[in-house]
Amino acid sequence: MMIPTEPIGSIPRPLRLVEAIAARHGDDPALMPLYEEAVRDTIERFEATGSPVITDGEQRKYHNFWTYCVEGLPNTAPDGFKIPFSAGHVRRMLRLTGGPFRYKRYADSYLEVALRFAHVPVKQAVISPSALSLMYPPVEIRGYPRERFIDDLLHEHEREIRRCLTKGAHSVQVDFTEGRLAVKIDPSGGLLHSFIDLNNMALSRFSAEERRRIGVHTCPGSDRDSTHSGDVDYAELLPSLFELKAGNFFIALAGEKDRARVLKIIRSQLKSDQRVFVGVISPIDPRVETPEEVRERVLEAAAYIPVEQLGTCDDCGFSPFCDDTTTTRDTAFAKIRSRIAGTALAARALGGD
Ligand SMILES: [Zn+2]
Repeated sequence: MMIPTEPIGSIPRPLRLVEAIAARHGDDPALMPLYEEAVRDTIERFEATGSPVITDGEQRKYHNFWTYCVEGLPNTAPDGFKIPFSAGHVRRMLRLTGGPFRYKRYADSYLEVALRFAHVPVKQAVISPSALSLMYPPVEIRGYPRERFIDDLLHEHEREIRRCLTKGAHSVQVDFTEGRLAVKIDPSGGLLHSFIDLNNMALSRFSAEERRRIGVHTCPGSDRDSTHSGDVDYAELLPSLFELKAGNFFIALAGEKDRARVLKIIRSQLKSDQRVFVGVISPIDPRVETPEEVRERVLEAAAYIPVEQLGTCDDCGFSPFCDDTTTTRDTAFAKIRSRIAGTALAARALGGD
């Protein structure tokens, strides 16, 4: 028996690269050899863990998982939407100042480089339309109403996913970290439902066959060993999450206090054509989990979720924000090795031999 296991996305960048990005502009051509070396090294180390699916570690997302596609656009300002983290710091979104809305870069440009180095399937993470919708200011932009922005946004997002699928991504993962945050901002659930509707408008543009290669990631955020919405009850999010027309769900679980309760909710909401990858590694916990711990977490999940619909993942990327150096590359890969080994141990136990 095989239980699929996948990473979420980011691996801490080499410190040399982080320092070079801070000293210059992230798009400076002088940085290209450093990016190239970082991607090559990340993929080599990823493959050495035995991971059946890898990523490029988001080495070229030089700001973060959220704004990589819009950094540097002339029609933006830096004072956009704020995300406060429990460590006390705040991350900000760009604010759109005028239309039309177009991406500055598409994630398939990262995938293309990764595929040059990789010997195993590569997945590609992209940001959700709902996260980017937070760029539109509360007061309407003159001459560029919100409806036109949403049209443009959906078009750009669809285009990015299609380009990734066409270029040979194993799968495309839509990062939806703002889902749980939405419940915190608006406890009535109105904002969350508007996010679900928007993302479903995007997912509906794909065939059932294509959606089998599309997944959605949810988590309480992960930056500088802290979260933005860890205090929000998953019960407020998960029923809506599984309304999304995606084939795969990557759900942070290792860091939850009451995993059994979350697994019961997942069991009651998961549809027959959906697969759930549960988080068995916590990137914001500095301690490296053992394979045996991972094995127990998988077996716990298998007690609730049909094993043919179960997979494992990390709770989140290891540095969704490029300048987050709280986790080392060595620790990230050690944790990934435990995920791979522990998932295999669980598969063996469940297979009965
Ligand atoms: Zn995450």
